[in-house]
Amino acid sequence: MENFFRFSTFPISPEIIKAIEDMGFEEPTPIQAQAIPPILEGKDVTGQAQTGTGKTAAFGIPALHTVDLTSTKTQVIVLSPTRELAIQTAEEFNRLSKYMKKLHVLPVYGGQPIERQFRALRVGVQIVVGTPGRVLDHLDRGTLSLKDVKMVVLDEADQMLDMGFREDIEKIIADTPKDRQTVLFSATIPAPPIKEISRRFQNKPEFVRVQHRELTVPQIEQLYLEVRNREKNEVLCRILEMYDPELAWSSATPSVR
Ligand code: AMP
Repeated sequence: MENFFRFSTFPISPEIIKAIEDMGFEEPTPIQAQAIPPILEGKDVTGQAQTGTGKTAAFGIPALHTVDLTSTKTQVIVLSPTRELAIQTAEEFNRLSKYMKKLHVLPVYGGQPIERQFRALRVGVQIVVGTPGRVLDHLDRGTLSLKDVKMVVLDEADQMLDMGFREDIEKIIADTPKDRQTVLFSATIPAPPIKEISRRFQNKPEFVRVQHRELTVPQIEQLYLEVRNREKNEVLCRILEMYDPELAWSSATPSVR
């Protein structure tokens, strides 16, 4: 089957398309089909989508597109509610940018020694994926500058607000240029605090959403097994042995091939 991304009207670079093919994506998920074109056009977008919909690549592909590889300045900042999501998102960026040799992505989160992050930031990373508290910490210490940021992504914004990151988010956004692009993803949009963040920081956002039944591409059949927590890894290994899949993904083991 021809790869849709290669023949679509999305103006995506050949390096990104090659990586998308390696990842086994054959066609965009519904949220990608709706969100990628306006984000590529530079518009602010508010997306209602949960984990599992392909939302990371929905903002990740256009974010990679906006980066100027001749500069090592931080140009995209993604805020994530948890260190696990920050790591997963940075990994998805790494997979998507596999053929973009000069692209550097750094996850920054609390709990990891801050010195290690200083070194990477000094060398220069174009995309930072971080939890609000740690990002703010770097801004206060002067180890991260957001003055060249072109795109801010608030990922799982509802979760970040629930966790009390509202003020941190506001301070971080205030440190970015006014003409930046602001993309917001949330599982629940109608909630007033999300609308308020969008009203304050986005400029005429386009709204995109996926209906619940459209969560995954229709060809995917979903099954689940109930297992004891401590048996998760063993069961996963047995399933992998049994089905010997060409490509697999698990939130327990970030990338299994
Ligand atoms: P996310 O909702 O971003 O957490 O993505 C869930 C999973 O779907 C990740 O493993 C992605 O790599 C994968 N994925 C994203 N886009 C596609 C696509 N167009 N086709 C197949 N898998 C995808």
